[in-house]
Amino acid sequence: MLKIENLHAEIDGKEILKGLSLEVATGEVHAIMGPNGAGKSTLGYVLGGRSGYEVTQGSVTFDGQDLLDLAPYERAAAGLFLGFQYPVEIPGISNVQFLREALNSQRRARGEEALSGAEFLKLARAQADALGMNQDMLKRPVNVGFSGGEKKRNEMVQMGILAPKFAILDETDSGLDIDALRAVGDGINRIMRAPDKSVLLITHYQRLLDYVKPDKVHVLADGRIVRSGGPELAQELEREGYGEMAA
Ligand code: ADP
Ligand code: MG
Ligand code: MG
Repeated sequence: MLKIENLHAEIDGKEILKGLSLEVATGEVHAIMGPNGAGKSTLGYVLGGRSGYEVTQGSVTFDGQDLLDLAPYERAAAGLFLGFQYPVEIPGISNVQFLREALNSQRRARGEEALSGAEFLKLARAQADALGMNQDMLKRPVNVGFSGGEKKRNEMVQMGILAPKFAILDETDSGLDIDALRAVGDGINRIMRAPDKSVLLITHYQRLLDYVKPDKVHVLADGRIVRSGGPELAQELEREGYGEMAA
C-alpha cells in the first residue's frame, strides 16, 4: 500500500530524512520507534504534505499513485490520515462543523455524495460513543480546552469518521493515562485493523504496542531506518534503549 524509497527531505535547507526506505503492505501495522529528533514526526509531515518540508530525492507510492505529486487534500481524499503528536486547537469552529466539512470535502473529491446534517450527526455520535467520548464534546470548538487524553480520543473519533485506508499516528499514546491508552488502542484496532487498511504507528514506548500488536517494528535514527524486526524488537528496545543508534 505504501512504498517509500530513498526519501530525502529537508526543512529550511537542513536535511532531516536522509535516504529513508520503508514498505507497508495492505493489512499490516508497522511501528516506528526511535530516539528524539530522529525525524519521526518529519516523516509524518512529509507524507501528509505539510508545507515547508522539501523532498529533495526519492519517491513515495501510495496505492499505486505518486503520493508526492498530490496536494494534501488529495492525499486525504485518497485515504491517508495523519494523527498529530500535538493536535491543534481551532477556536470558533465546533468539532461537528469541522469533522463534517472534512468528511464531505473528501467525499466530494472522490465523487461521492455529501452526508446530510442528520446522517453526519448519527455517524459522529456513534464514533464518539465507541471511543467513550462525551457527546457534548462534539459541540465544543475543536480541541479547545480539551485535556491531552481528550485530544487524542478526539483524534480517534476523527479517524473513525473519516475511515481512512492508511493512518499515520504520531505518538498518539504520549501523555495518556491507562484508561485513555486502552481506549485509544481499542479505537485503532476497531477502526484500522482490517485486511484492506494499514497503519504506521510512531511511538516511543512499548506500552501502546501491548494493545495494538504490530506486524513489524522499525527503528528510525538520524533520518533513516536503521533496524527492522518483529514485535520482539520493541521489547528489546524497551529493555536496552537505542544505545549507539541514538548518536
Ligand atoms: P522526532 O519526531 O523523531 O522526535 P522530528 O521529526 O520532530 O523528530 O525532528 C527531526 C529533526 O528536525 C530535529 O533535529 C528537529 O530539531 C529538526 N526540526 C524539526 N522541525 C524543524 C523546523 N521547523 N526547522 C528546523 N529544524 C526542525
Ligand atoms: Mg519527539
Ligand atoms: Mg516527533
